[in-house]
Amino acid sequence: MNLPATYLDYCASAPVKPSVARLMTEILDETGNASSVHAFGRARRARVEKARGQIADHFCVKPAQVIFTSGATESNNTILNLRRRRIVSSIEHPSILKAAGNAAHIRAQENGVIDLNHLEDLLKAENAPALVCLMLVNNETGVIQPVRRAAALCKEYGALLHCDAVAAVGRLAFGLGDLGCDSLGLCAHKIGGPQGAGALILRDDLEITPLLRGGGQEGRRRAGTENVAAIAGFGEAVALCEDDLVQAPLWRGWRKAFERVILDAAPDAVIFGKDAPHVASIISLAMPGAAQDMQMIALDLEGFAVSAGSACGSGRVEPSHVLKAMGAGRLAGNAVRVSFGWATRPEELEALAAAWTGIYGKKRGQMACAA
Ligand code: PMP
Repeated sequence: MNLPATYLDYCASAPVKPSVARLMTEILDETGNASSVHAFGRARRARVEKARGQIADHFCVKPAQVIFTSGATESNNTILNLRRRRIVSSIEHPSILKAAGNAAHIRAQENGVIDLNHLEDLLKAENAPALVCLMLVNNETGVIQPVRRAAALCKEYGALLHCDAVAAVGRLAFGLGDLGCDSLGLCAHKIGGPQGAGALILRDDLEITPLLRGGGQEGRRRAGTENVAAIAGFGEAVALCEDDLVQAPLWRGWRKAFERVILDAAPDAVIFGKDAPHVASIISLAMPGAAQDMQMIALDLEGFAVSAGSACGSGRVEPSHVLKAMGAGRLAGNAVRVSFGWATRPEELEALAAAWTGIYGKKRGQMACAA
């Protein structure tokens, strides 16, 4: 298959880092179950515990606070069992929104930041202890959410706060304690680790009801034989995130240059969340009047892989629920998401800006002819 030359869809899944792939390949050659007491089992266990230590170090927790899962969907679904009363932000990933049932939704403001006053109103509305879910970085706009302030509010009202930190890892430096939340949902495949590996990190004294029951793995909190190669790859990818954090200031410069080219050529283009605190490597960009699938296909034909909204749907392109929650209206149907990371070069963003402005020029030409 002829793959596109330029991959700018890291929020869907990032390329696996070479040292992660090497480690995983080495482990696939090994044998045994990490729960077995013999030497083979003990060697597998050592692989798992090394990864647990790497992740615990990065997020400033004790190893016992890290539960390995099959990914952030499982981590998020697991934590939702904690309380029946749930308050979730309207811009969460579907693994929260769909699993939370008839939860109350925290409104988002036009700039992509959730409305903390609304969270407080929702917390006040009932006495039952709630579980609140608020992501740290939105995976469609890159907008950073006020998790520390939300955590303080939750404490005041006796609520627990779960933070889906998937899109923040390797982009922001943070730990469980400094966010002040009770749990974190993570996955490996957005940071150069494998698909199908994730973790739920819990506050020291927080107990959960396992979602998967069976064997006593993960301290009886998640049954099932550990996927040792994937777990080890995840640990390695998290440890390597320190390199991405060093890159992050460079990425800010690349994004500014990208935005300048776009907005000079297309003054009516909209970059969602541009004026709110955001990470550089996620850009949600609308071309007014141009359907998002047309833009995606046109960019694909020119060799650029970007996405419209999140890739977790049925493969159909639907306007993003996040942009709709921000009040984007019809513009939500005109937006594509560009997301980049560890292997991206600045020339790739420059080339994308040129391709996008070329498509914009053609579209405006067509609109002028039709008028
Ligand atoms: N949360 C966010 C913010 C995500 O972007 C994703 C993946 N698209 C998930 C959760 C689900 O993660 P996983 O694919 O590991 O189940």
